[in-house]
Amino acid sequence: MLLAQLREIVWKCNLELPKNDLVKMTSGNVSGRDPDSGLVVIKPSGYSFEELTPEHMVVVDMDGKVVQGNLKPSTDTDTHLYVYKHRPDVFGVVHTHSPYASSFAALGQPIPACLTSSAMLGGEIPLGGYAPIGGEDIGQEIIDKIGRARAIIMQNHGVFTIGDSAQQATKMAVEVEEIAKITHLAMLRGQPILLTESQLGYMMNLYQNDYGQR
Ligand SMILES: [Zn+2]
Repeated sequence: MLLAQLREIVWKCNLELPKNDLVKMTSGNVSGRDPDSGLVVIKPSGYSFEELTPEHMVVVDMDGKVVQGNLKPSTDTDTHLYVYKHRPDVFGVVHTHSPYASSFAALGQPIPACLTSSAMLGGEIPLGGYAPIGGEDIGQEIIDKIGRARAIIMQNHGVFTIGDSAQQATKMAVEVEEIAKITHLAMLRGQPILLTESQLGYMMNLYQNDYGQR
C-alpha cells in the first residue's frame, strides 16, 4: 500500500470519531500500520479533528521516530506502537474517551457480553488496570488483558480498540460505545442476561464468515 493512501485512510477514520460522538476537542486518535513497510500513520498531537488534512497525519517507525510529516505525533503513540509490536495481526488501533464506555472505565467494570453484537468484539470487553499516560504501561496492560477481544476498557481512562485495519478498529470503537450505552440502560433496570459461550461462538463465526457482502 502507498503511504499516501494509508494517510488518507487514517485521516478519514479520525474524522469518524467526532462524527460518531466518540470524542470532544482534541482527545482520541486512530492509527494504521502499513503491512509492506511496517510504518505507522497516526493523528498529530493536540490537533482538533476539523482542522485535520491527510497531510497532517504523521508517519512514524516502530521506534516512534517521525519519518514523514512536520507535526508531533499523538501523545498516545507509544501505546499504539506497543500494541503493534506485540500483536502482528493488528493493523489498526483506536483510542477514545467515548462517554458510555468510559463510564465503565470509571467504575472499573468490564462490559458484559449480553448482546449478539458483543460477538463482533469477541464477547465480554475486558478491563485493563489503571496505567499512567505516556510510556509503555498502557500498552502492556492492553496486551496482557485484551485476549481474544477487539476492545478493552482501561480503568479510570477510556477505550482502546484493535482491528486488522484502521477502518475495522474504527468500526469497533463505534460498536463499543453502542454496546456500552445499551448495557448501561439495561443495568439501570436490572441484571443483563449474559450470552453463553456457545451462543457467542455461533455469533462470532457468523460475523467472521457470513456477515456483509462477499
Ligand atoms: Zn486517553
